[in-house]
Amino acid sequence: MLRANSIEELFDYAMAFSLQPLPHGNRVAVVSDAGGPAIMCVDELVAQGLRLAELGGETIEFMRPWAPPEASIRNPIDLTPQASLEDYRRALDAVLRDDAVDAVIAIYVPPVRMDEAEVARAIWQTAEQRGKPILCNFLGRTEASPGFVELVGHGVPSYLFPESAARALGAMHRYANYRAREEGETRTFRVDRKRAAEILRRTQDEGRARLRDSEALDILDAYGIRIARSRFVADLATLHAAAKDIGFPVVLKATGPGVVHKTDLRAVILDVRTEKDLLDGATQMRDRLRAAGTAFDGYVVQEFVRGGKEVILGMTRDKVYGPFLVFGLGGIYVEYLKDVAFGLPPLTDRDARRMIESIRTYPLLEGVRGEPPSDVDALVDAVLRLSQLVLDFDSIQEIDLNPVVALRKGEGYRAVDARIVLGPATKPPHFPGAGEDAQSSIHIPSGSTT
Ligand code: ADP
Ligand code: MG
Repeated sequence: MLRANSIEELFDYAMAFSLQPLPHGNRVAVVSDAGGPAIMCVDELVAQGLRLAELGGETIEFMRPWAPPEASIRNPIDLTPQASLEDYRRALDAVLRDDAVDAVIAIYVPPVRMDEAEVARAIWQTAEQRGKPILCNFLGRTEASPGFVELVGHGVPSYLFPESAARALGAMHRYANYRAREEGETRTFRVDRKRAAEILRRTQDEGRARLRDSEALDILDAYGIRIARSRFVADLATLHAAAKDIGFPVVLKATGPGVVHKTDLRAVILDVRTEKDLLDGATQMRDRLRAAGTAFDGYVVQEFVRGGKEVILGMTRDKVYGPFLVFGLGGIYVEYLKDVAFGLPPLTDRDARRMIESIRTYPLLEGVRGEPPSDVDALVDAVLRLSQLVLDFDSIQEIDLNPVVALRKGEGYRAVDARIVLGPATKPPHFPGAGEDAQSSIHIPSGSTT
């Protein structure tokens, strides 16, 4: 899907895609008779992920003898208003022939003394012979002016502003990349589906919407998603044995129907090193929760996972489109950073990796300022396993693994907090086929987010 950000862009893209071939690369030449619009165009090209082509020596030498003295014959080429029609045509042809150029934007600010339809004709005739995409901007004109009509009538898109041409070319480039990319493969993991199904059935039978923390971690474990070692205990008496089993230092958390955002309830203590700290912490936690009237029924003693980067991994099920996965970096800051990527299962291995790589803060996972890189391969595996889980069970409405601690390369990751919420039993998404009335069979919930 290519997103157009406005109706104007939608039509701009449609014109480019319907009239021109896709670029084979991101190197663009700009040919103009005015410097200002050419520079603005370059800024937008760069913002779109395109770059200025470095013209070959032959191209520049070819232009040098006849270009007007004030002209700039390096990309962006500014021929100045001194240039003749023939100059414009030759410059355009030279850059289109240059192997270092994948696409061209031709800008023309009509001077009074030249016939813009002539220029337009020179552009489409030259473009026709070279098979590379070319987009135009005749500045200060309208869509009814002769140059515009001449261009569009002969298959060359023309825009009122140089930035529009640059954005349309950017969309073509993204689409070309999308077409060229490796699809990858979908994998099916061997998982303990039965164990997961039993937990979900029990939860539904008991009329609960949210899984217990222990159940949520158990389901992840059944699907091979790595969780921090955890023991669930009901009372203070068995706490120490559980901690010894895990090995100090540990993390202590309260668990129960009323314990949702544990940090807000001060129901998480990290880095607990001794039996005394464990018991004191648990006692205070219990007293606090009781005083606040929070429904809780036990404790989680968990491996204290150190030295990683916190990421989130989750899923929300849309009524129309089905499940979509979310990946992001940032743990508690994720809501403020809004730096997340979405993926529609079933995902291939390449899809999962692209999803992870596409967040802005991805370089942090590669390691910056001498930090070791995180285990991205293991995170890819986790995304794929989560994808399989949500495809296997329609009843799961929402999964929020926040955080998953990504460890250094080779050491995997650990999910330390898992929230799984069930929805009303639903049928798979339904799209209308022939003979059905689309109006009545697709229900788009108001305020749905996709
Ligand atoms: P909640 O999100 O309900 O407040 P969490 O279980 O996510 O509770 O714990 C809060 C924070 O404590 C986490 O975001 C993480 O930074 C840290 N944390 C929780 N469990 C562990 C653990 N086992 N090892 C290391 N850090 C942890
Ligand atoms: Mg959390």
